[in-house]
Amino acid sequence: MCGIVCYIGEKSAKQILIEGLKQLEYRGYDSAGIAVHNGDRIEYCKAVGKITELEAKLNGRKMEGHTGIGHTRWATHGEPTEINAHPHMDQEKKLFVIHNGIIENYYNLKKKLEKDGVVFVSDTDTEVLAHMIARYFDGDLNKAVRTVMSEVEGTFGIAVIHQDAPGEIVIARRGSPLVIGVSDNGYFAASDVSAMVRYTKKVVHLKDNELATLTRDGFAISTAQAKRVERDTETVEWSAGDTDLNGFPHFMLKEIFEQPSTIENAIRGRLEPGEGVPKLGGIMPVWEKLKSCRHIVIVACGTSYYAGYVGRYCFEKLTEVDVEIELASEFRYRKFNFPPNTFIIALSQSGETADTLAAIKEARRKGASLLGIVNVVGSSIARETDAGVYNHAGPEIGVASTKIFTSQLTILTLIALLIGRHQTLPLTEGTEAIREIMALPDRVQRILAQANHIQAVAEKYHKYPNWLFIGRKFNYPIAMEGALKLKEVSYIHAEGYAAGEMKHGPIALINPDMPTVAIAPKDDMYDKMVNNIQEIKSRKGPVIAIITEGDERLKKIADDVIEVPPSLDFLYPVLTVIPCQLLAYYCADFLKRDIDKPRNLAKSVTVE
Ligand code: GLU
Repeated sequence: MCGIVCYIGEKSAKQILIEGLKQLEYRGYDSAGIAVHNGDRIEYCKAVGKITELEAKLNGRKMEGHTGIGHTRWATHGEPTEINAHPHMDQEKKLFVIHNGIIENYYNLKKKLEKDGVVFVSDTDTEVLAHMIARYFDGDLNKAVRTVMSEVEGTFGIAVIHQDAPGEIVIARRGSPLVIGVSDNGYFAASDVSAMVRYTKKVVHLKDNELATLTRDGFAISTAQAKRVERDTETVEWSAGDTDLNGFPHFMLKEIFEQPSTIENAIRGRLEPGEGVPKLGGIMPVWEKLKSCRHIVIVACGTSYYAGYVGRYCFEKLTEVDVEIELASEFRYRKFNFPPNTFIIALSQSGETADTLAAIKEARRKGASLLGIVNVVGSSIARETDAGVYNHAGPEIGVASTKIFTSQLTILTLIALLIGRHQTLPLTEGTEAIREIMALPDRVQRILAQANHIQAVAEKYHKYPNWLFIGRKFNYPIAMEGALKLKEVSYIHAEGYAAGEMKHGPIALINPDMPTVAIAPKDDMYDKMVNNIQEIKSRKGPVIAIITEGDERLKKIADDVIEVPPSLDFLYPVLTVIPCQLLAYYCADFLKRDIDKPRNLAKSVTVE
């Protein structure tokens, strides 16, 4: 679930591990620890809280050594305490393991080990791995890890070192990402390239059920059945600067302001304005099937789910395809009867979202074709799908997703437009859509230029403990996303509703203490939205309306307005979500929240 970083090479490991763990902080975690082999024995240190706590504990300790493993934990089994923090070790404190994920059969394994006299010190599932690997170790660490892999169920990315195997780190994965990094002075392993991008851009991805032994001179990958695997290194696009704040107070704000360029990245080289068609190389492998497809199910979680929800309306507008949107976590348990030539579109920033991965595996079993829209190149969803489109938006570090959302919206629109143009959508509508898509980065910029005004609105309302967000059709999912964003970073309670539902319940909540954010651009839902807003005003509810520039009518009715430039109905969500993101950000800032790492949340949710 959380972060792993390992180093073996010429340099001293301790500082590299600490720096690497700091790069992984954005994923959200509750404790951290490292272990370093000094040639004779292994020293370790763990701390609850931030990496700076770990650093404080390490202060004055030499911890020399060129081989080490480091971990940030996001507790799944056992409270966030120092004992439960990783690395975990065997009884003799010779073997040290760090683990991302969950060992599902740990309880039975633990009972068995306890019967044999093993005394457990932590409440974690991970500790079984330490005892088991130590028991199987007979001088060959890779073999011991392999044996344990065949006995454990669940998800793991692990890294192991043993006092009696100096000069090697064994890593293994099933369901949790691990990447090897190759540099001039040594080798790295990490759950995420950002942990090592400062040192190297040359990486090799480990696949599920593979393990690798890293030494100072190289690495060897094999399958869990000990079959040797040869794999070329890839070069990652990200650079160390991508993970810096560049003068912004928080990554969330930096990423909100990056949106003109991330939307640009989502469309660069992908449009043919004259033909009114996008070109998406990544989906060409399935194009013949996709262009005649009549049924799509979009699966995703959280913010990606709301992007998919907007996507559904886009597909309905631009194509002849029937589209369903489903939460990945629910999808698996439903009974689907896919018509022939059904496509699944999976959306995930990290490409590692456990629920989404499980959903696509289930869909594959039922015969659907799979498309992925992911940001992290080479991630599990990117590999598991038949084809897909990358966001190319650079790392998203703020836990609350912003720039990936608008990038996902843009890409979904491109896919819909591409299919639509090969179905019934006329050329004129295609060229108009492309013109308007190309204008999005500038229009987003225009909204960002009003950040001070949006900040002032947030200052006025941030003390209200309950908010409503309402919208219709394309902007209904934006109401839900706006509410989610506010909840995530400010901890203000907020609900997103289809405005037509107001009379069926939520309007009972309206009073002067309950602000409503009404997303009401000038599209074909406008008049109905104006009615909803008037109903709220009649009950003295404060209204913040997100409106199209120059809408004098709503300016008179609403208490506060935030204007967005005019656009096509299916493109408005890319614009209307920006004020929602900024409102959430500034409310959280006024409330002094930990904006980039909201409590209880993790960036990439690799457990179900
Ligand atoms: N399940 C393990 C634990 O609770 C690992 C959690 C993680 O991925 O950080 O310690």
